[in-house]
Amino acid sequence: MKKTGKRILVTGGYGFMGSNFVRFLYEKYPLYQIFNFDALTYAGNTDNLQDIEHAEVRRPLSGRRYVFLKGDISDTRSVASIFATHTFDAVVHLAAESHVDRSIHSVVDFIRTNVEGTRILLDAAREQGVPRLIHLSTDEVYGNVLKGFSKENAPLNPSNPYAASKAAGDFLVQSYVRTHRFPAIIVRPSNNYGPYQYPEKLIPLGITNLLEGKKIPIHGNGAHVRSWLHTEDFCSALDIILHKAPVGEIYNIDGVHLTNLEILGLVAGHLGKKISRHIIFTPDRPGADMRYAPDASKLKRDLGWKPKHNPRTAVPFVVDWYLKNDIWWRKIRQTQAFNDQYQKQSRGRWG
Ligand code: NAD
Repeated sequence: MKKTGKRILVTGGYGFMGSNFVRFLYEKYPLYQIFNFDALTYAGNTDNLQDIEHAEVRRPLSGRRYVFLKGDISDTRSVASIFATHTFDAVVHLAAESHVDRSIHSVVDFIRTNVEGTRILLDAAREQGVPRLIHLSTDEVYGNVLKGFSKENAPLNPSNPYAASKAAGDFLVQSYVRTHRFPAIIVRPSNNYGPYQYPEKLIPLGITNLLEGKKIPIHGNGAHVRSWLHTEDFCSALDIILHKAPVGEIYNIDGVHLTNLEILGLVAGHLGKKISRHIIFTPDRPGADMRYAPDASKLKRDLGWKPKHNPRTAVPFVVDWYLKNDIWWRKIRQTQAFNDQYQKQSRGRWG
């Protein structure tokens, strides 16, 4: 894909990874116009792109490089009206319900957004003849991988309702590639960490609980292994995939393996605390996966992706971001959406 004057539709651009990627594109490609289609669910936050919005207000409407389009991907009419008004050179589909714990309590929104919403977006993009769609899947679709590593052709074996809804979306995209020759690329990243992550997720929950003088609830025994990927490395991978990957391909994106306890230990250590004194073990998630291990050698070998970060050195900077941006997370932690979930999550209530 050429890099001049592209029009990119990002879905879910007010979420954690979406807002990091919108900012990445905005800063790297001054000639691009970025459209952010987001329903602003509890996880979508306009504060995440406030800097860009302030910069854009000074531009005339016709010359704006960033445009927010409020709408729900599971609403056919809303999606159709976006595609009727604009043409896109590429779609990057990040919008999703993304929290495993919530999917255990109710999967309804996950099916609506991650499966039906993906279907509606695919159909609209196909009808317009969009030349490229990048679909965000996850390493969780491979399920529990106690030994070895998952290559892109490994069977999908999701364990929890979130992962099952993502696997369904992933399969749907694969079927459109094969049946309709639809030009999609699937991306399966591992656990991201970085700025602007909603504080129900492990790392920002740990940081913000410690800063509020609370213990950190941790599922099971904390020995679950995740492949921790910094959002900057995620963005550089997605950038390469967006511009260079052949359509029809699937790419894993991986990070560095650490247990949940180890990653929280890095957080606590940077705040001068001993993690063992600041955690409460809660009953584990039913269906919990002990290890994810995506193998990203295809992305590194074929497209030359080189990650820069290791959590051992990067987590302290992330902690510092939350320290500096306490207004951002304190506002979220006061909401009912956060607190209702926190009550269940912090006690490991799964019923
Ligand atoms: P997030 O929950 O932080 O953000 C999701 C965004 O999507 C929010 O802005 C929300 O408002 C929007 N959204 C939700 N439902 C919508 C709908 N029906 N229509 C339009 N917008 C809607 O998610 P995230 O952590 O940034 O994850 C982004 C993508 O990456 C998701 O597809 C997720 O499954 C995938 N992923 C995330 C991780 C991770 O570690 N966070 C890892 C692998 C894959």
